[in-house]
Amino acid sequence: MGKVVAAAAVVCTAAVCAAAVLVMRHRMKSSGRWAKAEAILRELEEKCGTPTGKLRQVADAMAVEMHAGLASEGGSKLKMLISYVDNLPTGDEEGVFYALDLGGTNFRVLRVQLGGKEKHVVKRESEELSIPRHLMVGSPNDLFDFIAAAVAKFVATEGADFVLPPGRQRELGFTFSFPVKQISLASGTLIKWTKGFLIEDAIGQDIVEELTKAMERIGLDMHVTALVNDTVGTLAGGRYNNADVIAAVILGTGTNAAYVERANAIPKWQGLLPKSGEMVINMEWGNFRSSHLPLTEYDQILDAESLNPGEQIFEKIISGMYLGEIVRRVLCRMAEEASFFGDDIPPKLGDPFILRTPDIAAMHHDTSADLKMVGSKLNDILEVPNSSLKMRKMIVEICDIVATRGARLSAAGILGILKKLGRDTVKEGEKQRSVIALDGGLFEHYPEFRNCLINTLKELLGEEVSESVVVELSNDGSGIGAALIAASHSQYLEVEES
Ligand code: ADP
Ligand code: MG
Repeated sequence: MGKVVAAAAVVCTAAVCAAAVLVMRHRMKSSGRWAKAEAILRELEEKCGTPTGKLRQVADAMAVEMHAGLASEGGSKLKMLISYVDNLPTGDEEGVFYALDLGGTNFRVLRVQLGGKEKHVVKRESEELSIPRHLMVGSPNDLFDFIAAAVAKFVATEGADFVLPPGRQRELGFTFSFPVKQISLASGTLIKWTKGFLIEDAIGQDIVEELTKAMERIGLDMHVTALVNDTVGTLAGGRYNNADVIAAVILGTGTNAAYVERANAIPKWQGLLPKSGEMVINMEWGNFRSSHLPLTEYDQILDAESLNPGEQIFEKIISGMYLGEIVRRVLCRMAEEASFFGDDIPPKLGDPFILRTPDIAAMHHDTSADLKMVGSKLNDILEVPNSSLKMRKMIVEICDIVATRGARLSAAGILGILKKLGRDTVKEGEKQRSVIALDGGLFEHYPEFRNCLINTLKELLGEEVSESVVVELSNDGSGIGAALIAASHSQYLEVEES
């Protein structure tokens, strides 16, 4: 074929194609548009499906990974970090204890007066401060000096109703929500910064030592008794109020779980058995992944475009940071392929993370006949002014599919922990109760998510076992938890016991 003829053929084919597209567009405008959108929706529903059998496979995989992670370092995607918390609070603790919570741009200092057995928390006071941006990327000394000064200022406001026995040092539990390699209860080196912090010189340093030195520099006499992560703190807070608490799960911006393991079930711990025979394990379960997880093309692209591709896959399908974004990605495809919002794609829809999980929670929660809330969210966030009821209904369905998958998988994860502990069955004559302490904005403020999680756990456990397993909201455990751990590991305990 000569060049001219070939070119003419190409032009001609292109013209035919363009015409075909126009015709298709026109047809789609009427009925085809909805049919295509409906097809995308059904495909999403199928790919996100979490039938009971699949959830059992996920739970089994979670239990297997827990074993593997405990058996050897790097043996699993689950880090299964030893927290060195081997003595959870019982409620009998007494005295004044401090906590410092650093996990984002805000940090919190808190003090509690613990009154022992019946009295529990007699008094608590706290203060929240934000960390100036320049300190998040400056030198370690500047950051820790700033924190130490804030603690000192807070200590100075301690009233007479907080009682420190004479001759004793004040003690503090430090919740530090960045990846740390823990060396003992009160020492750990920083592995890396996240959440906007970047102070190179602090990486590899012992965080407790840095804080202690800073407090010494300003003459503050304070003993850092424990360095903990927020999930471990939540577990301690839950246990303080309820002796049956055996695990804690956080479902907030991210997700994580911690649980109480029998120390002799931890191979690398043998020979170093704590007196209690127990050890709290920080699972870092957000990094769990398994071939049984129902992943969609939306999840795959979200992951690939994320700051940490290939990591935190479980977190990316169940936690608050991502649920809204998954819904946005589905809507994008519907806009592109099914002209879901009409001929033009709403420009705002292209902004990553513009749909936040609280927004999809609000739309999901809308039970009004005309789905008013969905309409106003579409108008306010995506600048889609005139949404039809049909459109709104489909959007609610997308929210439902995405949230349901997250909630059901969270329940499967909890079943995995119960399995690992042999608490997924009832033993003859035994009346053991297992309480899971839950915290985090997603669980607390998204009722459809919360109820689905609770119901799914019941479905998985069956009626009889369900009666002995309770999911309990334990908010603020992460704040007070570190103070409680400082109390249950106080440097003066040995003295008191002997
Ligand atoms: P963090 O996890 O950052 O420590 P929280 O536990 O308070 O903080 O959780 C905050 C997260 O919870 C938000 O990022 C959001 O994803 C989710 N969240 C907050 N409010 C709601 C809500 N009303 N509906 C659904 N999710 C919510
Ligand atoms: Mg939190």
